[in-house]
Amino acid sequence: MNRSSGSLTITDHPTDPIEIECKQCGRHGRYRKAALIEKYGSDIVLPDLLALIAGDCEQRTSRLGNRGCGAIYPALARTERRNPPLEFS
Ligand SMILES: [Zn+2]
Repeated sequence: MNRSSGSLTITDHPTDPIEIECKQCGRHGRYRKAALIEKYGSDIVLPDLLALIAGDCEQRTSRLGNRGCGAIYPALARTERRNPPLEFS
């Protein structure tokens, strides 16, 4: 990962299939990496890919605009969360 932008590309995604979920609209999908690369190319960065896949999200087209959709890559959300778990007991 030496890219200046720091954005991961599709080939950097840790899982295959690539999972996407949106907490706003409850969408949840799995996409085979090979199929996505064939469609969008192996250079596409993950934020762009997410925008393309989730582009038809109901929330995105609502009055909230692009900010309305909460689509994420759950696999990345897990690995990037470095804080120790909080205890609420
Ligand atoms: Zn959404």
